Amino acid sequence: MTELNAHEAVNLYFDEAAGLIDLDDEMGDVLKSSYREISVQVPVRLDSGGLQVVRGYRVQHNGARGPYKGGIRYHPTADLNEIRALAALMTWKTSLLAIPFGGAKGGIEVDPLPMSTHELERMTRRFTLAISHVLGVYRDIPAPDVNTNAQVMAWIMDAYSGKEGYTPAIVTGKPIDFGGAPGREAATGRGCVYVLDAAAKHWGLDLTEKRVAIQGFGNVGSWAAAELASRGVDVVAVSDLQGGVYRDSGLDVHELVELARHGRSVTDAEGCDPITNDELIEVDCDVLMPAALGEVIRKDNADRVRASIVLEAANYPTTPDGDKVLTDRGIRVIPDVLANGGGVTGSYFEWTQNIQQFTWKESRFNEELADKLHEAFDSVSGFADYHGCTMRQAAFAIGITRVAKAARLRGYV
Ligand code: NAD
Repeated sequence: MTELNAHEAVNLYFDEAAGLIDLDDEMGDVLKSSYREISVQVPVRLDSGGLQVVRGYRVQHNGARGPYKGGIRYHPTADLNEIRALAALMTWKTSLLAIPFGGAKGGIEVDPLPMSTHELERMTRRFTLAISHVLGVYRDIPAPDVNTNAQVMAWIMDAYSGKEGYTPAIVTGKPIDFGGAPGREAATGRGCVYVLDAAAKHWGLDLTEKRVAIQGFGNVGSWAAAELASRGVDVVAVSDLQGGVYRDSGLDVHELVELARHGRSVTDAEGCDPITNDELIEVDCDVLMPAALGEVIRKDNADRVRASIVLEAANYPTTPDGDKVLTDRGIRVIPDVLANGGGVTGSYFEWTQNIQQFTWKESRFNEELADKLHEAFDSVSGFADYHGCTMRQAAFAIGITRVAKAARLRGYV
């Protein structure tokens, strides 16, 4: 049997958790489907003079607990099904983290890597205008995701503000000089390490004795590696689209970050063994952090994972079949909705600061981030220990319970 597609998989995780909290079927029907899904045409004038017509999406999954919130990715696989699945994950994530947002996701089905900066800017502005009628500071607030960054967020803010007036809180993950919050760029990767730290305390592990492998060295992977290195934890393998590198005694994270900052691949690092992205998943390590794309741990490779902890820095990196193999083998999986929740939590801090026109120091940002993530970890581990279920089932169950309460109070059901 082939594995489920991303949306079916997220709904399977939903069903497992719904069973634990005795959610009624009517509420289940409402919470499993999206509130609104938009598909728009995005014509992009290329530097060559030609025209490329691409498709963009914004899916607002559920807004019972607050404005829709979720990133925008530019990727060839970012079709409606993938965006729909990721939007639903955002609903359970914001709820689990107890921040007053709903869940959304957006994307353009395009390979942005060959595009020039001017082409990316034109595409971003056209897409923003096409979806601007469903955006709003109290309606829907985008953020960065795969292949989008602070510059792309600045274009989104500028395009939206051109229509509606100065609106920094319309998007998060902005450059610091343009309404961004100190700490937000690092928040997802750093937050992964805060969650890992809470896990280590809960399970009685010394993180400095652990060896970590990270797939993906973009925003999330590189900041996670930097935070681990600052705590004296060995990062033994990392990778990006070009491939990966391994060093048994630990990689020089500073050198890798410098390479990435200059647009170079981690495969250019000196004195390491080259590995492929497939090999990275199976590399000898204690903690495996998939921090790139989805569906990288599947039925066909989960039995070869050597880590004892998988921390899902990426969204939906483990298929349900892969998840079952890991669980049956006693590997602890810290699910995406908890593990990478630092990103949306940091976005929440940025949004509140924009609304108040007041900037926190980065030290305060990081303290509040750690508090939020530790609280979420404690509630998930407490639920999982009490019910004898996986951390994913616990995280979904907590998230769904809170959304269901808000949906009932609003009279959705
Ligand atoms: P990014 O675009 O900054 O980096 C992606 C990294 O993955 C790059 O190093 C790229 O080279 C690598 N990559 C791309 N395709 C690959 C492939 N096929 N195999 C191996 N590596 C590949 O993206 P990001 O913002 O770091 O996001 C990474 C993951 O984290 C995504 O799943 C995203 O949804 C999730 N996430 C991001 C945030 C955020 O704040 N940026 C928040 C929560 C979750």
